Amino acid sequence: MSNIEQTLSIIKPDAVERNIENEIKEIFKSNGFSILKEKKIQIEKSEAEKFYKVHETKPFYNDLCSYLSSGPIVVMVLEKENAVLANRELMGATNPKDAEEGTIRKKYGISIDKNSVHGSDSVENAEIEINFFFKD
Ligand code: UDP
Ligand code: MG
Repeated sequence: MSNIEQTLSIIKPDAVERNIENEIKEIFKSNGFSILKEKKIQIEKSEAEKFYKVHETKPFYNDLCSYLSSGPIVVMVLEKENAVLANRELMGATNPKDAEEGTIRKKYGISIDKNSVHGSDSVENAEIEINFFFKD
């Protein structure tokens, strides 16, 4: 049975800064994702704090929120069969050092914090994250 899902993807500041956003978008498209919506924005630190609220008790929370708001990002709604898991697989592990060959983080990630992309981790969070950036 078909299970088309939508998920939220973010091309993070380290990747936008290196001008590889189009390369990354091509990877999504060539892996069967449709980009339904996209916008390039820069967010305030207070918005990053809301977006990453689930991590507020973690030692890296403050740096993470400073980082996500440090420069332009590209936020996208991706659609595909089982998009949430498919995107997590295509992104690779959080730490690029642990990411498998052929994943976006293996190819482009600089470090565990500058790991080039974000992807929703569940269908429930995908809906919350899509509404966070695209409520219309
Ligand atoms: N992060 C970090 N240090 C860590 C773990 C995570 O800087 O020790 C950052 C990293 O940018 C990661 C984000 O926090 O992408 C969110 O962490 P999560 O565990 O949700 O990883 P993800 O879902 O992005 O793979
Ligand atoms: Mg996560």
